[in-house]
Amino acid sequence: MRLILLGPPGAGKGTQASLLTARYSIPQLSTGDMLRAAVAQQTEVGKRAKAVMDAGQLVSDEIVNQIVSERIDAEDCRNGFILDGYPRTVPQAHALKDMLAQKGQPLDAVIELKVDENALVSRMENRVAETLANGGTVRSDDNVEAFRKRLAEYREKTAPLSEHYAKTGDLKQLNGMASVDEVSKAIEEILASK
Ligand code: AMP
Repeated sequence: MRLILLGPPGAGKGTQASLLTARYSIPQLSTGDMLRAAVAQQTEVGKRAKAVMDAGQLVSDEIVNQIVSERIDAEDCRNGFILDGYPRTVPQAHALKDMLAQKGQPLDAVIELKVDENALVSRMENRVAETLANGGTVRSDDNVEAFRKRLAEYREKTAPLSEHYAKTGDLKQLNGMASVDEVSKAIEEILASK
């Protein structure tokens, strides 16, 4: 099963990816995680990516395309994979298509979790308040202003990708505001028809 999960921060992508990983024995491939690992290991790619990532910009398509291409050749991807954070631009989507065609591994689906941004902000505020009330600590970017910025950035970068995959016929959109179980069931139904 080869999937792309699209959805803004807080939409529940991580939760659904973990469920899919368990169900299909396929890894979740996050380009952000892979790049952070390359930076930590000070590889050539890591050295080139560090400054760009620190500035909050996108790493070049050439770099991310290469790390994804190498990663999906690994043994644990033989049953498939869930891409998270890649592709992030339309040129990356084209590169992915070529790469998968070359490897003879076509995509099964692109699943987008559609959400109500205002409801996501309230959800996030409640979660922070609850954590603090329980004596916990929260991340420095767990505040409404930073969260709205991340949502706006996602909207700007991802709207063209969603349109792209609608045109290719791969896009399936789901109501990401439904419960974890309901979303999971809806994803299962989409994948069962593959
Ligand atoms: P993330 O953990 O997905 O938020 O990614 C962290 C950072 O890694 C981003 O701000 C980018 O600098 C870089 N990055 C991750 N995925 C990509 C991608 N597909 N294309 C370009 N840069 C990426």
